[in-house]
Formats: sequence, C-alpha cells, structure tokens
Amino acid sequence: MAILPIVVLGDPLLRKETKPVTEVTDELRTLVADMFETMRAAEGIGLAAPQVGRSERLCIVHVEDAMYTLINPEIIAREGSIKWEEGCLSIPDVFGWVERASYVKVRAMDLEGKEIEVEGRELMAVCMQHEIDHLDGKLFIDHLSFLKKRQAMAAWEKEKVKYPSGLRILVPGEKAE
Ligand SMILES: [Zn+2]
Repeated sequence: MAILPIVVLGDPLLRKETKPVTEVTDELRTLVADMFETMRAAEGIGLAAPQVGRSERLCIVHVEDAMYTLINPEIIAREGSIKWEEGCLSIPDVFGWVERASYVKVRAMDLEGKEIEVEGRELMAVCMQHEIDHLDGKLFIDHLSFLKKRQAMAAWEKEKVKYPSGLRILVPGEKAE
C-alpha cells in the first residue's frame, strides 16, 4: 500500500465530473487500499478519487466504526437538515459551516461489485454528501454564502503557499496538518 499525494484546491481535476466505474479490477482494489492509507495518514474521514488525481466515480468514508467503499454512489433518499463545520483534505486548514441533509441513503457498488445501500445520519450523512459532491466536481466552499466563500478563499490564499507543487505530500507517522 502507498500513501498517495493529495491534490489541493486549484487543480482542475477537483472541478471535473468523474466517470462511472464499469468493472472492479485489481488495479481499482489497489487504488482503494491506497486511498484508505492516504486518508488515515491525513486523519480524514472521507476521500474521493479526484483528490488523489483520479477520474473514477468512487469515494471512501470512515466515520467512527463505519467504513465504506462507495463505487458509483448515488443519493436515493435525503431527509432533514443539519449544519456542520466542514473541512476538506484538498483545502487544508480552511473550514466553513455547511447546511446539508441530516440523513441520506446512498446506493453504490462495493469492491466485490455488489450493490449496497448505506444509510447515514449526522456526521456520516455530511461526510457522504461531501464526498459525493467531489465526484461531481463540487467542493464544500461552493455551499457557502458569497461572503463566507470569500473569507474561505482569503484563508486559502495564505495556506496555499505551503503547497507550491499543488500537491499535499503526507509522510507516514508525521502529524497531518
Ligand atoms: Zn473534500
């Protein structure tokens, strides 16, 4: 397994629509294993393929004890609303309060190619909506008001100098920033 570099805001890949996965290959399984290792190294709770430079419609989530690989995920039900202060591994050290559904049901394919349905409430619901947004080229900052988005972008202007290559390289064992 390998820790993959994470692309940061500004990379056009983060704004591109992903392509549905048609077949679960060994290469895809390796990608998912690497994504889990990368997410752990970054101390994140979710990661989407575009964040590691890929175009597959796939993301992973890990909230408390629940861990899922979601291939071609689709939100098939949503209820309620919740406000959560979100961050993103591709926009380090920038946060913003986002309102989303407090419950979602997601239909996806797992790594065995089987159809699964995953329900999430509160943080898991927030996390799945955030990750599925990534697959449509959407970021949490897009949900902020004009003013809050401007503040977030100003914060990012200061942060982004830490990533001159446009990549966030994580070193195992080092505290993630
Ligand atoms: Zn994100």
